[in-house]
Amino acid sequence: MNWKKNDVITLTIDDISEDGSGIGKTEGYTWFVKDTVIGDGIEARVMKMKKNYGFARLHRVLEPSAFRVEPRCPAAKACGGCQLQAMAYEEQLRFKERKVYHHLKRLGGVEELSPEPIIGMEHPWRYRNKAQFPFGRDKDGRIIYGFYAGRTHAIIQQEDCLLGVEENREILEIIRGYMEDFHIPPYDESSHTGLVRHVLIRKGFATGELMVCLIMNGTALPHADVLVKRLRSLQGMTSISFNVNMDRTNVILGEQVVKLYGKGYITDTIGDIRYQISPQSFYQVNPVQTEKLYETALEYAGLTGEETVWDLYCGIGTISLFLARRAKKVYGVEIIPAAIEDARENARLNGILNVEFYVGRAEEVLPEQYHKNKVYADVIVVDPPRKGCDKACLDTIVEMGPERVVYVSCDSATLARDVKYLRERGYKVRRVRTVDLFGQCVHVETVCLLSNRKPKPDAHVKLSRSMDDYYRIKEEGKNNQ
Ligand code: SAH
Repeated sequence: MNWKKNDVITLTIDDISEDGSGIGKTEGYTWFVKDTVIGDGIEARVMKMKKNYGFARLHRVLEPSAFRVEPRCPAAKACGGCQLQAMAYEEQLRFKERKVYHHLKRLGGVEELSPEPIIGMEHPWRYRNKAQFPFGRDKDGRIIYGFYAGRTHAIIQQEDCLLGVEENREILEIIRGYMEDFHIPPYDESSHTGLVRHVLIRKGFATGELMVCLIMNGTALPHADVLVKRLRSLQGMTSISFNVNMDRTNVILGEQVVKLYGKGYITDTIGDIRYQISPQSFYQVNPVQTEKLYETALEYAGLTGEETVWDLYCGIGTISLFLARRAKKVYGVEIIPAAIEDARENARLNGILNVEFYVGRAEEVLPEQYHKNKVYADVIVVDPPRKGCDKACLDTIVEMGPERVVYVSCDSATLARDVKYLRERGYKVRRVRTVDLFGQCVHVETVCLLSNRKPKPDAHVKLSRSMDDYYRIKEEGKNNQ
């Protein structure tokens, strides 16, 4: 390591880390540089060095990558929420595909398949159906709203997040106007005074219904009738409420919700399933792509109407309900009791009777049900949080030996680890597809089909090209351009 702090280094960025930093090398030593794009030739200033890698700050771009674009959002750098805004969307998709492929190959040891092309977004902007804006004051005392800068709690004013819906801005302006008119103070974190902490907005993309919920350091909202009247002038306004959170905490929502207008929830649909969404409910933030993700999972599950399916880590039962119409019976397992209440309510709302939900840990409920009650599964679907599945859960899956395991993953590194575990125990990867739910951001979802049987001749498995061929052809295509 021949470098010290503030040295200027020259390097080419050839990869992106999980948190969106560009990665490049000098003499075999790895550097992480924020605000860069794969293919950029840059100069960077050394900030910090560890044994095997270091951090540097972008000094100037010597040769911009062919994939570099001007970030659309003026606050992209300060906010940091969209790590990939400087990268053309097509290239974001390639980056995500490549990341999943490398994880499956290097960490999962998978050689046996050709990946299906990533399902990208038609419109990679304004796709989020939910937004939470903190309120505060600027240095002149004016009421502002926006986002927290980087990892701090300083609010940077930003009227319009380009991932959120157009209506956000109008709603927030109405609320700011109302607060100014009636001298309603925003919350001040350091002194724990003031009233309005955050504003939560949700929109049902399929129904056009809008929900507004003010999160308050108090139990009453003065002149609420005026606010309600002003907000109701917006088309689609369906639910207005406030949530009480008087704790000194970073957690946004408190327990209690007070309705000001409407029933306290909005409805939305994914596919032909209806959902009731309250301010506290978990609901996928990108419903358009979520439907494509679930359709992929449904296709991989290969249901004919005769199957018994277990949906582990089921949340509010979204995948369970999606599968239930094509299965004999679906069992869902989820650790959060309130999510299971929502799941049961959603099943009722849709008249779906062949589902049953358990509250508990997947790694406890599944072994218990298997050993005590001898439950059976043709298909097991898992959709775990980022840390992946617990070993006890995977062991029970292997013991139960369902013909198909459909693994829905939000972290391809832990997916690959778990796939390796299952492969060593007789399962093979049959199909893989990534779905982009988070344009401009580094995250990506993956659906992976594993099976312990030989694929039938009529199965939709395309083994004609290996993963390596697939990427070699892509790379060659790129180089010939
Ligand atoms: N399948 C759902 C939710 C997936 S998110 C959907 O598509 O909407 C992952 C879920 O796993 C969360 O709801 C989380 O609460 C739950 N979870 C986390 N650890 C768990 C465990 N050990 N057992 C069961 N559920 C768990």
